[in-house]
Amino acid sequence: MLTTPHILVGGAIGKQVKSPYAALPLAFASHFMLDAVPHVDVISLLGFGGPKSDLVTAAEVLVGAALLLILVRGQKRMRWILRGAMAAIAMDAIVLVTLCFPVIGGWPGLSHLCWLHGFIGQLNPNTGRLLGLATQAPAVILPIFLLCRYYARSDK
Ligand SMILES: [Zn+2]
Repeated sequence: MLTTPHILVGGAIGKQVKSPYAALPLAFASHFMLDAVPHVDVISLLGFGGPKSDLVTAAEVLVGAALLLILVRGQKRMRWILRGAMAAIAMDAIVLVTLCFPVIGGWPGLSHLCWLHGFIGQLNPNTGRLLGLATQAPAVILPIFLLCRYYARSDK
């Protein structure tokens, strides 16, 4: 899945779930739930991998993070929103670190977590662009509503 839906869903969880003990695990778990939905990632969206797709991925992460910051700037729960967003993309960061440093990927627990992430990601390997983008749209639109400054009375 693209990173922007992960960031926005994690941020929305950070805003809406008031218990930090529940918010961060839920935001982390949301990554697996979104990856289980038929989707496209940057490589399948562009049709090629390699350094150019890495650059597009990095740009997409920045756009998602910027969108989140614009939506939640100045809100009372901003720190928890950002923590939720970080928890939601932590799994991809873990995978990136284990790819760069394979010895870390062999750590007990971490290797199982990476295997689970890869397994879930392979559940929908050939989702087309149209279906893949259509399934991600609710994962972007709904969190935007939840993150909007005036949606929750507590943020007025
Ligand atoms: Zn993932």
